[in-house]
Amino acid sequence: MKCACATLYRLDDAEARHYATEHLQRLAVDNETWSVTYECPGTGRKWLLDYPHSEYHGGGPPRLRQLDFDGTPLEVVLKDPDL
Ligand SMILES: [Zn+2]
Repeated sequence: MKCACATLYRLDDAEARHYATEHLQRLAVDNETWSVTYECPGTGRKWLLDYPHSEYHGGGPPRLRQLDFDGTPLEVVLKDPDL
């Protein structure tokens, strides 16, 4: 799969699953939060897969967000530049 880490910072549900499986390498799994840290093999960018609706039956759809160098999701950084 082609690397889109320079242009994407968030994917949901099936797209998140697909991108993580086809493109990213799994680095670590957090068994408490069910979140998984991934790394792009081409750019070294880090991604976090989690389940924002974990209260749903079956955990709900996954969300994949790219992290900045501090480990903060880019989505949050871009929304609030003062953070
Ligand atoms: Zn990539």
